[in-house]
Amino acid sequence: VKKQAGRYEKQGREITLSGVLGAGIMGGGIAYQSAYKGTPILMKDINNEAIELGLKEARKLVGKQVSREKLTAEEGASVLGRIRPTLSYGDFEHVDVIVEAVVENQKVKSTVLSEVEQSLDDRAILCSNTSTISIDTLADALKRPENFCGMHFFNPVHRMPLVEVIRGSRSSDETIGTVVAYARHMGKTPIVVNDCPGFLVNRVLFPYLQGFEFLLREGVDMVRIDKVMEGFGWPMGPAYLLDVVGLDTADHAAQVLAEGYPDRMKIEGKTAIEKLLDEDRKGQKNGLGFYKYS
Ligand code: NAD
Repeated sequence: VKKQAGRYEKQGREITLSGVLGAGIMGGGIAYQSAYKGTPILMKDINNEAIELGLKEARKLVGKQVSREKLTAEEGASVLGRIRPTLSYGDFEHVDVIVEAVVENQKVKSTVLSEVEQSLDDRAILCSNTSTISIDTLADALKRPENFCGMHFFNPVHRMPLVEVIRGSRSSDETIGTVVAYARHMGKTPIVVNDCPGFLVNRVLFPYLQGFEFLLREGVDMVRIDKVMEGFGWPMGPAYLLDVVGLDTADHAAQVLAEGYPDRMKIEGKTAIEKLLDEDRKGQKNGLGFYKYS
């Protein structure tokens, strides 16, 4: 994996300032990880409440590092100081790399990407943390599609080592190299993959989650399934994992995979995730999913 991404790295540019659009589960995590590893980052969302959620997550993670004595209180304060909240695209003029991490909706992402592009330097690199949307489709919204690719982190960002760098048909080598280098700066293991529904990891993960759905339909208890998979050695079982990911995000990803691979990934009838979403249970993000959170 190291060698695979490494051949692009030499072509990357230096990154002194980064940005993230969206301060949700992923945006907050990306901001923390970038700041923790020393790269200052602008974090934009649509209102102060949303930004506050991202900052709260970063404060929590810094607090844990300080209490474990991995950071001094002073170092912790510097990490937080490297996260610069903003509500305006105007602040992105000197940013080298921007990761878009807004809701998993193609129209919203295309709008956000084309809006931010207008404030950027010609050489700035834009990437999307989309789990499932085609990079080539998102690139269509841009004037400089060669400066765009996917940068797919996993949740929780500070713990999951892999980052998929998704090469669109128009992404330049310099773009891929810069994003590979940024992933490494963040202490991650980048892998360069092609643009296709589900990229690489979700094409493996979602058939597994589908297996979970079929077991539920056979009447197997979800807590038992989670315990079995933990016993098998996975850090968490499928029900808990889906709650961490967010049921709305997971449902959207499942639909994209079903459209991309209808022969294998299409499931008849309402899934357990869809039934929970009907009751507005979105997982940990709103305190109710497969499990309840206080
Ligand atoms: P989330 O719902 O927690 O956060 C989305 C954020 O985007 C919210 O804070 C929202 O206010 C903000 N937003 C909406 N419109 C915006 C705009 N116009 N400008 C700026 N911000 C805007 O979602 P999330 O789970 O963080 O997912 C974000 C992206 O990351 C999605 O594309 C998702 O598919 C992807 N992703 C999610 C996971 C996961 O496990 N949750 C894993 C990998 C990738």
